[in-house]
Amino acid sequence: MPNLHTTAIIIGAGPAGAGTSFFLSKYGIPHIVIEKETFPRDKVCGDACSGKTALVINRANPEWLKEILAEPQAFLPSWGITFIAPNGRSLDIPFSPNRTAETKAPGFTVPRLVLDNFLFGKMPSPHCTIFQNATVETIENIPGKVTVAMSHEGIGYTITASVIVGADGDKSQVRKTFLNESTNPKTSAVGLRAYYSGITGMHRENFIELHFLPEMLPGYLWIFPLPDGMANVGVGILSERIRKKKINLREQMLHAIATNPMIAPRFANARLAGKIQGCGLPLGTEQLPVSGDGFILTGDAACLIDPFSGEGIGNALYSGMLAAAAIKEAAARNNYSAAFLKSVYDDVVYKRLGEELKLSTTLQRLCRFPWLFNFVVNKAARSASLRNTISCMFTDMDLREQLSKPSFYWKILINR
Ligand SMILES: Cc1cc2nc3c(=O)[nH]c(=O)nc-3n(C[C@H](O)[C@H](O)[C@H](O)COP(=O)(O)OP(=O)(O)OC[C@H]3O[C@@H](n4cnc5c(N)ncnc54)[C@H](O)[C@@H]3O)c2cc1C
Repeated sequence: MPNLHTTAIIIGAGPAGAGTSFFLSKYGIPHIVIEKETFPRDKVCGDACSGKTALVINRANPEWLKEILAEPQAFLPSWGITFIAPNGRSLDIPFSPNRTAETKAPGFTVPRLVLDNFLFGKMPSPHCTIFQNATVETIENIPGKVTVAMSHEGIGYTITASVIVGADGDKSQVRKTFLNESTNPKTSAVGLRAYYSGITGMHRENFIELHFLPEMLPGYLWIFPLPDGMANVGVGILSERIRKKKINLREQMLHAIATNPMIAPRFANARLAGKIQGCGLPLGTEQLPVSGDGFILTGDAACLIDPFSGEGIGNALYSGMLAAAAIKEAAARNNYSAAFLKSVYDDVVYKRLGEELKLSTTLQRLCRFPWLFNFVVNKAARSASLRNTISCMFTDMDLREQLSKPSFYWKILINR
């Protein structure tokens, strides 16, 4: 049985694993990536990437972002969001209200089959060894050393390292092993994704659409344009609500597509491509521990999905970047203890992402009140300055914080 030694083992080669690996390679830290699938592989997702995804890719290597921006036929540039309030009224919010000819679209949509394969293709480096189509048999942690037993192409390996990174998604084996639990059911949502061709009425600048249908609040149905006239259509609803209301998510989604007056006519000649598939969304509604003795959790394994928007790709890449920086610090001091990793990882993750996640949790709660949503959209539809304020909230966190304050709604009410 071959024995391998390295500094860090990364389980999972999705955005979180790729983000960790890019920056470990930058720091010259040897690591082994173990992935159970073979790339290109699919991942159930809405396929919408925000500016945070672009930011991390750019930090890893600006040339990679240039490649993405140079291929709009694969990475479809998106310039904004259309919100459809529970009363059916729609509101277009551009991401860059004051753009110039040089401005690049802040977001893009791309099937995960393509995005993840792009990221995977950037991982090879002299510091990175990758095993795909590999099975993690066991993970053991004795103080100061993590041991993973893995099988690959009929050969069993024992890999030892100083630290293991759980980048293995919603059903993280690393999370289960170290925290003795899966995701917290109270904080999770479930989503369905379908690919359609032939949907009409898409925005000319590829705005992504969030339909806050009354029966799904605080979740929503989305329609995201994709390259080649395709669209990603899906629903995401809190697990708690699904259980309480005994919702059949698939039926609810197909019912909305067939009968909702804002949606159904657009699907008159649409065709479903492939199967409707589902997956869990571990939302970042609580600040859970994301590391411990000899381990670090990233992306979905760390429950870092934005509770309002459902966005997780950016936070997966971002947390991977922070995990690599934490490992650099730990390696420099040869200290992989829970206390040290907390100080260089958990504290940093929540310092950078905590406010944003907290605010999105509040917004998600506010979405339970359809009248409030209708009120803001009705007002914004009539007020260019309010639309502009909401646009700026995508990039300005201080401004976004206003959304969680009663004074914001009071000012709208009295038209200031
Ligand atoms: C329906 C739905 C819609 C969504 N829409 C969006 C969206 O539009 N935009 C957005 O930003 N986010 C969206 N998300 C969230 C986003 O998909 C996730 O947050 C993101 O994929 C997290 O990346 P990750 O690398 O942590 O995990 P994953 O992308 O799940 O990657 C984990 C990797 O680990 C591998 N793995 C798992 N277990 C093991 C194991 N035991 N051994 C080895 N390898 C393993 C998997 O094969 C996979 O390659 C959506 C999620 C869902 C479910």
